[in-house]
Amino acid sequence: MIETPSAASSIYNQLLGVIESIEPRIADATRAELTDQRASLKLIASENYASLPVLLTMGTWLSDKYAEGTIGHRFYAGCQNVDTVESVAAEHARELFGAEYAYVQPHSGIDANLVAYWSILSHRIESPELERLGAKTVNDLAEDDWEILRATFNQQRVMGMSLDAGGHLTHGFRHNISGKMFRQHSYGTNPDTGLIDYDQLLADAREFKPLILVAGYSAYPRRVNFARMREIADAVGATLFVDMAHFAGLVAGKVFTGEENPVGYADVIASTTHKSLRGPRGGFVLATGEYAPSVDRGCPMVLGGPLSHIMAAKAIAFAEARQPSFQSYAQAVADNAKALADGLLRRGVKLVTGGTDNHLVLIDVSPFGLTGRQAEPALLESGIVTNRNSIPRDPNGAWYTSGVRIGTPALTTRGFGPDEFDRVAELIAGVLKATTPVTASNGQPGKAKYTIADGVAERTRAAAAELLDANPLYPGLDIEP
Ligand code: PLP
Repeated sequence: MIETPSAASSIYNQLLGVIESIEPRIADATRAELTDQRASLKLIASENYASLPVLLTMGTWLSDKYAEGTIGHRFYAGCQNVDTVESVAAEHARELFGAEYAYVQPHSGIDANLVAYWSILSHRIESPELERLGAKTVNDLAEDDWEILRATFNQQRVMGMSLDAGGHLTHGFRHNISGKMFRQHSYGTNPDTGLIDYDQLLADAREFKPLILVAGYSAYPRRVNFARMREIADAVGATLFVDMAHFAGLVAGKVFTGEENPVGYADVIASTTHKSLRGPRGGFVLATGEYAPSVDRGCPMVLGGPLSHIMAAKAIAFAEARQPSFQSYAQAVADNAKALADGLLRRGVKLVTGGTDNHLVLIDVSPFGLTGRQAEPALLESGIVTNRNSIPRDPNGAWYTSGVRIGTPALTTRGFGPDEFDRVAELIAGVLKATTPVTASNGQPGKAKYTIADGVAERTRAAAAELLDANPLYPGLDIEP
């Protein structure tokens, strides 16, 4: 559980009073969001509850300063305090992860991934090309050479996990910029085990010959062996880029160690700060010394002015994650996910890969005759917040889906342990069993409408409220109406 500083109630009530005096609807929405978050079983695998010191650090005048550039080398005057903030945040990130270099400017996970991609392109393609042409920067290139270089960027190949196997949009999905700026090939999972098949991946990589091999996921409920990923990257001369947005907290908390820790295996690592890492909404990039100079050019390559107030909050979150209590938290996140998965399996719920060994669980709702588009709102009506998600080779596509993704980082922050997660599993199984699809006008089972057996949603909400009351969010934070 995270502590509430004693002054928090007074600080937030005064703050809400100030907001109220200018735009009452914003004050109301802010109060209502806390009420909603306190009153629901938040199982969204990518969400968490940041500590109040992290939240408070975001709300300062550091926001008002422009500081494009890098530490000590800015395009604006008067950046000495931002330099301090960025240096402290980067130092904590380096120490926390044992990385050679950390870049804390990216505003989000997608920004961090774009910085990673462009820094790899810059290091692997642009620099050698400039050298070959005898140019120092792209400004020295003749127009024809510049056109050739631009076309060369577009020829590069990236290989990442497919969306339905659990990869992210930014890993080469066609509708994302990553699928447009690169030629891309996706790898999936073994149809029998649901696991990454490293031998198959190596064979695919030998054929496709990617410049960049992406490892990392949004909805894969298992650990990745980064030593194997490194071997595959080396076998085809690819740069290994790891997107640890989802599991950064488990790396920071030393649950993922050895071959499960990407640091030391990956050339470049990108992440969010707000998921299992429990920081402010943002991103960062870690790199080896070899890639550091090109990552450091994230601004102006991809980014504009850094969010200094968010970098300050990242420093607080990284410092929190360096405390021994964060390691206990991260271990509890993984133990709780196991308890949740076991509880679901015992009650006859089918899970992709048959379980979990990270922070998330992917339920296959098709044996209940449901789509994710039905299961997600049925659970929500019952006070359980989840998100629908594709499962590998999903016959219902990315909109309706056949899966529901759940995770333990947020409720673990509230103090839930294995017993509470077993009870959560009982509630989820009860709602899924009590939900039936409504037949569509063509006589087929519908994909969106559903009914829940009488009284189940109400009883589940009451049971959820009991669990939530026993594990309050920000205990002692009293917000006046
Ligand atoms: N990478 C992965 C693996 C993610 O799961 C996500 C978000 O869901 C992102 C990147 C993007 O993060 P953001 O929403 O902060 O841009």
